[in-house]
Amino acid sequence: MTFAAIHPEAGRIDATLDDLGCGLSWSAIYKVRPRIALTCPDCEHGVHAKVSARKLKHFAHDPGRPADCAWLNESLEHHLLKLELATRIRDAGWHAELEVRADDGTWRADVLASAHDDSRRIASEAQLSPITDDDIRDRTERYRNEDIDVCWVSPAETTVRWLSKVPSIRVRDPKDGRSWEVVDGVARFDFQQGAWIAVDDLDLTQFILWVLNDKTTPHQVLPRYRRVWFPTDQRYGRRQLIWTSQRSVGEEARHEVKRQRQEEWRRQQEEKERLAEQQRQEEEARLREAQRLEEERQRKIRAEADRIRREEQLRQWAIEDEQRRIKREAEERQRKEAAAAAEQERLRQEQLEFQAAKRWWKELSPTQIQELHDAVAGPLWKKEATRVAFKRDEAAAATAYGIPAYVRHRLYGILRPSPASLHRLPPAVPVFVRNGREAQLIADTGKVDATRIVHFNLPDHEQMPLI
Ligand SMILES: [Zn+2]
Repeated sequence: MTFAAIHPEAGRIDATLDDLGCGLSWSAIYKVRPRIALTCPDCEHGVHAKVSARKLKHFAHDPGRPADCAWLNESLEHHLLKLELATRIRDAGWHAELEVRADDGTWRADVLASAHDDSRRIASEAQLSPITDDDIRDRTERYRNEDIDVCWVSPAETTVRWLSKVPSIRVRDPKDGRSWEVVDGVARFDFQQGAWIAVDDLDLTQFILWVLNDKTTPHQVLPRYRRVWFPTDQRYGRRQLIWTSQRSVGEEARHEVKRQRQEEWRRQQEEKERLAEQQRQEEEARLREAQRLEEERQRKIRAEADRIRREEQLRQWAIEDEQRRIKREAEERQRKEAAAAAEQERLRQEQLEFQAAKRWWKELSPTQIQELHDAVAGPLWKKEATRVAFKRDEAAAATAYGIPAYVRHRLYGILRPSPASLHRLPPAVPVFVRNGREAQLIADTGKVDATRIVHFNLPDHEQMPLI
């Protein structure tokens, strides 16, 4: 179905207008005989005037219509929406044409609104079927090239993809006696909130009046403000392109300036804080470095002190070693000197003893010595015929300068040891002396027990021969 048709004489006629837009009445074309050769403005196929069950005047294609006619497959809903838009435009005092096609076919508008002075044209497109973003942008561009503004209208229940990508609105079918409403696509800027608020309950007539009077125009929302609040649904939605007033555009710009100023201020604050933080960190680093250097210095001082202490200790030990060495050498010297002195004393003592022994033996004549030998040897010879061997050459320090007497090679006793050397006598060996005087002399020294001493009562003086 279509609302427009080409009349062979009157040209383009419009079923939605009482005079069909050209001073003709509906009855002049509806069910007249002979039939008037009306054609479709798009496909030029034959059409005929018709009234639907809902009393809607329109044109229907004659049988054998071409499948590619733009208007052919549109739904009744689509047509009703187009009719609605056209009616409101006309109510606002503008001219509205339905189903208009560009001479060169570059565009085909559902409703084309024109100011009476033809200064401005606005196309309204009722878009019910799905369309790609590229397609709808392309078609929008074609209108723009012809200096025609466009508003895409969706009667869908929910948001369609292309909404807000091209100048567009979403409308709601009147229900419960209410009129058509714009529910999406229009917004006002709230400076206090710094956000766009959707006008989601706007009367369609009001919207069309605003558009026609240039009170609302498409506006590319600044990137920061694309979250739009929908009061009725209590939700946010992202919108790029909206219909709004110049005042709101100005408010958005003013808010953007304020925001940028605040952001700049905040950036400066952050920069200040950053600088302060940097200075603080640098100061901290400086302090840490100073502390490190101080600790290093203290460490070196301690190390140097330790080194000096160690050296002092080593020096001290060396001194003590030297002192010990000197002491040891002195002691060694003293010990040697003492030993030498003792040796000398011993030699002196031996010399004295030797002298004493010489004197001791000089007291006797060889005869007296023989007397003593005989006195010792005589009884043994008489009793046992045992000989006693006297070894005068063995009379030395070891026998206290006495003459050792042997019996059968065993020491039998010592004759007349020197009283000055008795301490040298072998122990328990009998000591033979001449008489009681000599025995007493030896016993008096305390060096020899009296029981060991044997004497023979020989006279002290030599018995001169009487001859
Ligand atoms: Zn057609």
